[in-house]
Amino acid sequence: MSDKFSMLIGGQWVEARSGEVMERHTPMDGSLVGVYPRGGREDVDAAVAAARAAFDGGPWPAMSGPQRGALLMKVAEKLRERQEEMALRITREMGRPIRESRNEVRETAEVFECYAGRAWQSLSEAVTHVPGSMGLIIREPVGVVAVITPWNFPLLLLSWKVAPALAVGCTVVAKPASYTPGVCLMLGEMITEAGFPPGVFNVVTGPGSVVGDALVAHPGVDKVAFTGDTATGRSVMRSASGNVKRVSLELGGKSPNIVFADADIRAASGGAQIGIFFNQGEVCQAGSRLLVQEEVHDELVARLIERAKSLRMGDPMDPETRMGAIVSREQLDTILGYVGIGKEEGADLVYGGSRKSGGIFDRGYYMEPTIFDNVKSSMRIAQEEIFGPVVCVITFKDEEEAIRIANDTIYGLAGAVWTRDIDRAMRVVRRVKAGTMFVNCYLGAGLPLAEMPFGGFKQSGFGRELGKAGMEQYTEIKSVHMRLTS
Ligand code: NAD
Repeated sequence: MSDKFSMLIGGQWVEARSGEVMERHTPMDGSLVGVYPRGGREDVDAAVAAARAAFDGGPWPAMSGPQRGALLMKVAEKLRERQEEMALRITREMGRPIRESRNEVRETAEVFECYAGRAWQSLSEAVTHVPGSMGLIIREPVGVVAVITPWNFPLLLLSWKVAPALAVGCTVVAKPASYTPGVCLMLGEMITEAGFPPGVFNVVTGPGSVVGDALVAHPGVDKVAFTGDTATGRSVMRSASGNVKRVSLELGGKSPNIVFADADIRAASGGAQIGIFFNQGEVCQAGSRLLVQEEVHDELVARLIERAKSLRMGDPMDPETRMGAIVSREQLDTILGYVGIGKEEGADLVYGGSRKSGGIFDRGYYMEPTIFDNVKSSMRIAQEEIFGPVVCVITFKDEEEAIRIANDTIYGLAGAVWTRDIDRAMRVVRRVKAGTMFVNCYLGAGLPLAEMPFGGFKQSGFGRELGKAGMEQYTEIKSVHMRLTS
């Protein structure tokens, strides 16, 4: 299964102006999955011009919220219809188990449904409590939005930006990660088929250092919505400053998963497993630091090792597989490099630590689930984002020490607390500096995720995606002061 794709600019499917292409080979077994245009600066200029024209002169921003919502709902329907095809492409492009790719497509449809509904609600307010005058606080679409996304949830993270931006009337130029451009272009097909006016949604594929950088610096772009590495985020902030663009950044993490002695240790070990091994640990909010109270350390680590042993690794296309391939050779090397660093720093490697071999594993990039015990907070493996299935177990004595270690990081994306004491849970929730906290769960408690704002404290970024906050960040506020004659 290898397909040739074109880019979407101004409602047309086009090749790169240079004629260059880029190939993607799957990390599952090395076979070719797709050939994509290798866009350049001229393609960015064309896409921004199309998005600019669609915003400044097109019907899109002037349409009513319900009209826009109806089109977003059509995209959700198409996502559900083509779920299997999209899931296959995600798995083949980035190596994750097919079961999880199916979930990603379903969750993406939910995000479009959520913002289809929200498009019916006005975000503006009226100020009416002073006789003889009235104030209006109007929310207007910010304009042309550059959407730049990573490869680890290639469709879902796109929807977190695209759906709310379109719902409020913005136009978009999307730049997907070079490992995973296919689903973004497939989303472009659905948006086109749903009947969105030309130029409202554009996609330029190509290297981040060229296409991403040109988009971020482009004077025709009003806002940049970026998800990726913290180092790239810093560069995005600098490049976006030329015309004082609005910027929102969703960056890296090193999230603390804190287990107290009074917790349900069996459940906590399940949460620890999901926290670090889900999606091969390629998750920005991975629970990569497992903070354990000393009384339950041995039991929790033993349980986690048992879970790692029974975690089914294999062909990502097999619905029974729970851990698939790492996205690339470079990423695998980075992870293995950190295993070496951890050993040198004196942490105890108690499980895994190697590239998986034999059968399909020899043809792709597969990493064993890996557990480091007796890690100190000052070690590099406890401070730097590894972005792989590697967990650092750090022991603490009491609540004060747990909070101190939890906050001993430049990041602040997420965290979890496991305890049966609700007062303690709430104290920890309030004192850990992170944008999302889980209580007695990891990654979710069954709530509709599209309604729960997501984003970082500290160097995990700023701005919030999802929910009402995720829509507001694509708007400007205009205050109107009116004197009324009676
Ligand atoms: P990355 O920063 O390398 O790339 C992200 C995107 O930016 C890609 O599309 C890339 O092509 C583009 N890019 C690269 N250089 C650029 C530049 N100079 N200017 C503009 N764009 C540029 O990140 P990645 O390796 O694709 O993704 C992994 C990272 O993303 C991890 O750090 C992870 O924590 C983070 N992430 C964060 C969240 C979140 O919501 N906070 C979610 C998922 C991933």
